[in-house]
Amino acid sequence: MERCPACRARMSEQSVCPRCACDFTLALGAQAAARRHLGSALHALAQGEQTSARQSLLKSQSLQRSTLGNYLERLIIPADSATDF
Ligand SMILES: [Zn+2]
Repeated sequence: MERCPACRARMSEQSVCPRCACDFTLALGAQAAARRHLGSALHALAQGEQTSARQSLLKSQSLQRSTLGNYLERLIIPADSATDF
């Protein structure tokens, strides 16, 4: 997060905005968890474990949608089963 979504102050690596004191700890934790789940999905996909890849991808996308996650969704999740979880 480069800028505070509330006041647009520069954030760098901080989780609390230095200007308005908004605490983004939970949001940043969710972003990190989404990245971990996306990595797990890619790893599982590379291992040929479709079910595990699908579950990890759904967890990732539920926390934070990403361009790569959107692509993987189209690749490994049939349109009619996207809500099975
Ligand atoms: Zn702020």
